[in-house]
Amino acid sequence: MHGITDQYNRTFKVLRVSVINRCNLGCMYCVEHGDDAAAFREQRKSNNISAHELVAIIVELHKLLDLETVRLTGGEPLLYPELPLIVKGIVQAGISDISLTTNGLLLDRKAIQLKEAGLQSVNISLDAIDRDVFFTVNKRDSLDKVLTGIDAAISAGLNVKLNAVILKGINDNQVIPLLEFARSKNIIIRFLEVMAMGHLHKDPWKYFFGQQQILQTIAAKYPFHALTRQTASTANYWITNDQQKFGIIANESSPFCHDCNRLRIDSEGRLFGCLSSNHGIDARNLDRGQLVQALKAALAQKQSLKFIGSELSMLQIGG
Ligand code: SAM
Repeated sequence: MHGITDQYNRTFKVLRVSVINRCNLGCMYCVEHGDDAAAFREQRKSNNISAHELVAIIVELHKLLDLETVRLTGGEPLLYPELPLIVKGIVQAGISDISLTTNGLLLDRKAIQLKEAGLQSVNISLDAIDRDVFFTVNKRDSLDKVLTGIDAAISAGLNVKLNAVILKGINDNQVIPLLEFARSKNIIIRFLEVMAMGHLHKDPWKYFFGQQQILQTIAAKYPFHALTRQTASTANYWITNDQQKFGIIANESSPFCHDCNRLRIDSEGRLFGCLSSNHGIDARNLDRGQLVQALKAALAQKQSLKFIGSELSMLQIGG
């Protein structure tokens, strides 16, 4: 079964697991009215899988796919109380490359425990270094907590990267400050083009600030040259003349579907072969034959070359 491939020779080696579909931020690209109390209450209705059930699915998938990496995400995965148990379960399954995507708000309390459980790296979302801009994008006054969380993750010995979604007219003035912040912490930052997901599916260009614009902004202050892309990487990387490496995840300008090796599980135990699919395939309580069929169906969901958007937001499917 390790040989499951599609017509583009793609398979699944990286599993992204959404452990929870709740979040403690209301980011404007994820939640249409993130500052609205009713919207916040609405996203508090979660239907999450148990750690035991989730690990059982991961173990079965690993037997079939020989997974290399598991990335834990959400919603906000640090809101899931049994996250360390999941990390330990994945280590016991024989997968050592385990990472977490988080907004960092709760990292101060949880970084050491997660590192001890076997977590290796953490991607922390940080869309602004200016307090007011942070509030505009993320809808909570939580910048200080994120900054403390970044320091806690570095001190705990985790490999840390930053992710910043850049929105036209909203936080495009944060590209240089964020780059300089990453430099001051000696960590890599990746800038993301906004993707046409959830409520933005209707109006994908509203906030679009593309790779070319990000590069032009950086070049005006820090000249750079391009680095070679690694196979299946979501990001392209550059290095400034004074040796700061940074990345851009340019879903629209530089699509990366052609060698995608990612499979997703949402927080209800459904498989998604592609972020663009609106239809998960239930992976709970399947025997091996049924799971093979589910994986083939997930592989058929992959887009050929370019992501075309989804009616689901990352909050629902997992970012
Ligand atoms: N709560 C965690 C966090 O903030 O990192 C994990 C989930 S979040 C959905 C994962 C990542 O997806 C974040 O970096 C977020 O900025 C990004 N994201 C969400 N919606 C997006 C969109 N429409 N376009 C681009 N990135 C998006």
